[in-house]
Amino acid sequence: FLAVGVATSLLMVGLVVWLSRRRLSLLGELATAIRRREFIVHYQPIIDLQTGACVGAEALVRWRRPNGETVRPDIFIPLAEENGLIEPITHQVIEIVVAELKDLLAADRSAHIAVNLSAQDIQSGRFLPFMATLLEAAGVRPDQLWLEATERGFIDAKLARVTLEKARQSGHAVAIDDFGTGYSSLQYLQDLPLDALKIDKSFVDTIGIDSATSTITPHIIDIAKSLGLSVVAEGVERQEQADYLAQRGVHYAQGWLFSRPLPKAEFVAFYRRQSNG
Ligand code: C2E
Ligand code: CA
Ligand code: CA
Ligand code: CA
Repeated sequence: FLAVGVATSLLMVGLVVWLSRRRLSLLGELATAIRRREFIVHYQPIIDLQTGACVGAEALVRWRRPNGETVRPDIFIPLAEENGLIEPITHQVIEIVVAELKDLLAADRSAHIAVNLSAQDIQSGRFLPFMATLLEAAGVRPDQLWLEATERGFIDAKLARVTLEKARQSGHAVAIDDFGTGYSSLQYLQDLPLDALKIDKSFVDTIGIDSATSTITPHIIDIAKSLGLSVVAEGVERQEQADYLAQRGVHYAQGWLFSRPLPKAEFVAFYRRQSNG
């Protein structure tokens, strides 16, 4: 038994060492990827639930490595956040979005694209002047770029307030992302200047399924509406969920039911087919 115990512990230690080495090497590669601009952006259509029209998209970053492998943001975004590397990535995403979609955005003033921000972006606020310069040069109106602020990793609500207030003064709409998954969601609703609330997929998943969470979902919608926020539901996969959300007065939705995140050309085609413009 002792031998088995020792062997198991050694295996565990080995596994931990291997995992942290892998993370370290991934971190090194991520720094290189930023220098070499290995990021691409996919666009997930956002649908108006009342009309069925596509009103724009959420920009979602992917890391395309030179060997052809694509790394999901779930893996490298947290790594970047933990190591002070998120701001250059955010800047590259903003650059790509403006370059790829400026024609669409200039041609259709009602179209909008949502960009994800991390806590560090919001606390430093450096992306704002960067974005303003790019938008002006491209002739795109700031109100066509929505900002999604995640509550993950928020440290200083005061700093966040300052940046988000400035962003709104510049014309951007601000949404709180992944609402309900953090520990102090309701506090953020009070403290931050917001235009929209994104209901996290974990709540959408429970629609039509009896559970403690499914009883919370309608209340999140009501809170958002009573605060005058637009509501966006994410991760909608089934028609039943879309019907429920539409009937509850949720304005916008995105999810595989409508479309997966698409490369630029496919998104532009989707938008042309399904927008009212
Ligand atoms: P998120 O902001 O909550 O984005 C929604 C995620 O759900 C995306 O994953 C999207 O592809 C996925 N999704 C959308 N519809 C469905 C559906 O119907 N079913 C399922 N199962 N999944 C769906 P993705 O693209 O892997 O992004 C993961 C997370 O990485 C994002 O979650 C966001 O927090 C972060 N992220 C992505 N792009 C960026 C970025 O440019 N900057 C920052 N800071 N974070 C980003
Ligand atoms: Ca998001
Ligand atoms: Ca989200
Ligand atoms: Ca989410």
